[in-house]
Amino acid sequence: MKKMEILNSGKAKTVYKTDDPDLLVMEFRNSLTAFDGAKKSSVPKKGYYNAIISKRIFGLLEENNIKTHYKYMFSDNEMVVDAIEIILVEVIVRNIAAGSIVKKYPFKQGQPLEPPVVVMDYKDDERHDPMLNEDIAAALGLATKEELAQIRKTALIINDILISFLEPRGLLIPDFKLEFGRRGNEIVLGDEISCDTCRFWDKQTKNSLDKDIFRFDKGDLASAYHEVARRIVPEVIK
Ligand code: 5GP
Repeated sequence: MKKMEILNSGKAKTVYKTDDPDLLVMEFRNSLTAFDGAKKSSVPKKGYYNAIISKRIFGLLEENNIKTHYKYMFSDNEMVVDAIEIILVEVIVRNIAAGSIVKKYPFKQGQPLEPPVVVMDYKDDERHDPMLNEDIAAALGLATKEELAQIRKTALIINDILISFLEPRGLLIPDFKLEFGRRGNEIVLGDEISCDTCRFWDKQTKNSLDKDIFRFDKGDLASAYHEVARRIVPEVIK
């Protein structure tokens, strides 16, 4: 399989076409942004840590019968994925109140959310990812109500799998963001699951081990991402 020209380049990842029209190469870069691109930086090895964490989690999900776009690693920070038709909906699952939900609603930071809260946002940076409901999503032609119901159900199953996997590794997952796409007539998980797209807290200290370190200048991002990789893929990261 041969990597070809760039298909698109986002804030933290670049997607390349390949000589197989059904496959793409997704490169995890060291650049990172926050607040819809207003804050920018670059951190050595960030792309590698996110790629290796995503690879492990996609593998875990596939073992649990969740369909994903992941195929195999192309290099340390590049993965081969199915060329899916991305659904422009960001699906956020929340177990503990943090981030925007604390700003927008009267939740207390760190408050458990039982049962978990699922929010769907329209993926559109210029509009600051406004929240969707089923009617708006259907009217925009993003996804049908049936598709959204299936996505919500899958997101909650993924949540259970992640909590069970992370708990013995000393990690809490207050929230995370998923993206789905269409592959033929099925809906599969796309994008990434990494320190850029999840909140991870150390179970004991409740310290952030994720992109909040960059968002809110809370310390050394590379060592936090290294720590998550060490707990999630100890066979690779010592
Ligand atoms: P919040 O709504 O608190 O900003 O984000 C909730 C969770 O979803 C966090 O784990 C955050 O990393 C993730 N998330 C939400 N929107 C985005 C986004 O546009 N990009 C990334 N990388 N993560 C997001």
